[in-house]
Amino acid sequence: MVIILYIGYKCRLLPTKEQASIILHNINCSRFVYNYLLSLRVSTYEGEGNQLFYADMCRVITALRHDPFYHWLSSADVKCLKQSAKDLDDAFKNFYAHTANFPKFHRKRECGSYRTYPGKLSGNRVRIPKVGMVKFIPSKELVGRVVNATISRSLAGKYYISFCVETDEIMSESCAGVIGIDVGIRHFYTDNLGNVIDMPDLTKLYILRDRAQHRLSRKTKGSKNREKQRIRLARIYEKITNIRNDFLHKLSTRLVNENQVIAIEHLDVSSMMKDKNVAFYIQNSCFSTFFAMLSYKSLKKVNCALLRVDKFFPSSQLCSNCGYKNSQVKDLSIREWTCPNCGSHHDRDINAAKNILKEGLKQLA
Ligand SMILES: [Zn+2]
Repeated sequence: MVIILYIGYKCRLLPTKEQASIILHNINCSRFVYNYLLSLRVSTYEGEGNQLFYADMCRVITALRHDPFYHWLSSADVKCLKQSAKDLDDAFKNFYAHTANFPKFHRKRECGSYRTYPGKLSGNRVRIPKVGMVKFIPSKELVGRVVNATISRSLAGKYYISFCVETDEIMSESCAGVIGIDVGIRHFYTDNLGNVIDMPDLTKLYILRDRAQHRLSRKTKGSKNREKQRIRLARIYEKITNIRNDFLHKLSTRLVNENQVIAIEHLDVSSMMKDKNVAFYIQNSCFSTFFAMLSYKSLKKVNCALLRVDKFFPSSQLCSNCGYKNSQVKDLSIREWTCPNCGSHHDRDINAAKNILKEGLKQLA
């Protein structure tokens, strides 16, 4: 079986000084165009009640590029400016479909990105419109047709290119395992067989981060030292993100390779976002990234089913042996309990994982 997939390949980009300044110019221009069009759309809507469509916005961009007042726009990559119009159009579509808030103006920040259509790749070089041939470090071999690319500058001043690639992949098969997963705060997850997986220990990096944050707060605003410290801090943040993503990628790949059935809880993202507890929020955002990875990786397998169990399913309160519901276990501090009905002894997390698997398998029946 063959399916068409869109896969992102993010690679480190190594522009020369001149190339970096052109990239920065493109980022700034695409942000300017986005904000300009947004204010235009708001004022046309308020004035005449009319909508500005994508084609209208493209005409505005062409007019701006010929306006001597905005002459600097003419040296920017046209494709990335039109992408800004496309992005804004999508943002409004999502707003009208009630799936997003009203589009916001993009702030000028140290980091930023723009999307464009790159030219031919040759070896470890890619032709970027207006920038020229730029070196990059391939993360793995690109298979398929490059649809577009996002070029970004991180807070630490590093450049990245993320190729969106269309592939018609021949789906592979997973091994015969079945697994139920209970994610949690104490351990990253516990499965139905009692295997416990923990996040890599980032304590040392967190200490470095807090120290760097503190030092940054003591530097004079606008000073060179502050800028240096800002970059140092951003590098630590990037390192943390990289370690975390690497862990999530390896884990999700292994799970879809080894299992034909993976049962997970359904995470409610919108209620998660309201949670003000930061540690909990970070942990949760890891879970949703992890589940998203499982979701698209399982699509690449012929025989891998990712089953989501309803969020109201009381996975930790049911006895996985006899199905008795023990409401006392609601209390999160109870780690182990004995079923009053059948007498089996349970570890809270393993029991929950078993129940999630059982409940998930019902969907297949
Ligand atoms: Zn029981």
